[in-house]
Amino acid sequence: MLSADEFDRRHIWRPYASMMTPPPLHRITDAQGVYLTRADGGRMIDAMSSWWCMAHGHRRPEIVAAMAAQLQRMPHVMFGGLTHDPATELAQRLVRLLPPGLDCIFYADSGSVAVEVALKMARQAQAARGHATRTMFASARGGYHGDTWKAMSLCDPETGMHGHFGGSLQPQFFVRRPPVAFGDAWIEDPALNGLQEVETLFAEQAGRIAGFIIEPVVQGAGGMRFYHPRYLAGLRRLCDAAGVLLIFDEVATGFGRTGRMFAMEHAGVWPDIICLGKALTGGHITFAATVASRAVAQAIAGGSPGLLMHGPTFMGNPLACAAACASLDLLQAGAWRDDVARIEAGLTIGLAPARDMPAVADVRVLGAIGVVEMRSPIDVDRAHARAVASGVYLRPFGRLLYTMPPFITSDRELEQIVTEMLNICMIESGDI
Ligand code: PLP
Repeated sequence: MLSADEFDRRHIWRPYASMMTPPPLHRITDAQGVYLTRADGGRMIDAMSSWWCMAHGHRRPEIVAAMAAQLQRMPHVMFGGLTHDPATELAQRLVRLLPPGLDCIFYADSGSVAVEVALKMARQAQAARGHATRTMFASARGGYHGDTWKAMSLCDPETGMHGHFGGSLQPQFFVRRPPVAFGDAWIEDPALNGLQEVETLFAEQAGRIAGFIIEPVVQGAGGMRFYHPRYLAGLRRLCDAAGVLLIFDEVATGFGRTGRMFAMEHAGVWPDIICLGKALTGGHITFAATVASRAVAQAIAGGSPGLLMHGPTFMGNPLACAAACASLDLLQAGAWRDDVARIEAGLTIGLAPARDMPAVADVRVLGAIGVVEMRSPIDVDRAHARAVASGVYLRPFGRLLYTMPPFITSDRELEQIVTEMLNICMIESGDI
């Protein structure tokens, strides 16, 4: 008879893993606030906010209560031909929160699906406007948009999965990643700020491009880089001039993570279509939304077949809508603003010593995101095991050691995360 762990390892795929040689696992039996409790009784701080979604901490009472109440009434009902209060109430909250005109909401199952829907919207809107040849998409290098096929084709062509899936992925257009870093002085010269390349691409290929997709300000899983918000203003202008629809992927950055409700607020620029996910439900259940401008929705309605061609089984799931409403109410209450500013200050001061370490190439902090970029690839297994033994759950990748803690992380807990990150830097520098 196999133990639970043995059975798990024999039969369950893990993310980005081999079924035959699965990575080490920690069995979690309880999650509360910032803490994960393991089956062996050990506790660790979830410094990853469980892949960046658990903004208000685990098992947040307000969200749990809203979900529990909804569970008693109606966990699910199909969305075709039916509607329900949680879906309407969530839409009301999102319309209030988003810029005017960005108000046509499609409920999706996950961030990747939200991206797929955004791409479909752009393609259908362009076709409806008479641009049948605008079938491709453009993006900046260094991005990440999800693991489904079309989303994958728009992830960074080197750090993404193009190498693994090669010819199966539809070719897309890429410009270099936005070169001016967040916090640096903006460079007006378009040859240096990256916008000339976009302009040239559009001059040559706009007739084939339906939309340009980008993560505003923070490029997450593609490299954890923060770029200058002015890039987005230039991109908006160029997209307008070329008739290319602008899509913001705020799946990772939305709902306070960068210190603003949405990262696009750093730039004061709005897209034609926005993708939301992860922290939309406070991370308590999978859910996402793709929100289009009324102009995009009207264009789609005016084309053939005049319908947006997407409709998943679990669209508008009431349980997820109820969780999202409770999470947005918490954000509306506003305490997150002070918390994110406090975490930003704590990470900035706490991670500063890493700048002087020989193995460290760069340290950057924005909102509740702290990143240490090393000069060479991190010994990920060693770093991870060390952090876990010290009570902090960190999952570095490549040359990147980073944290995205829940907003409720206390100063003491933050200090513990930072101490552990510095220890890993010292080990990587050969100082321990
Ligand atoms: N877009 C961005 C910017 C993301 O960071 C992610 C996930 O990390 C996704 C899309 C995909 O979301 P999901 O994993 O929910 O499919």
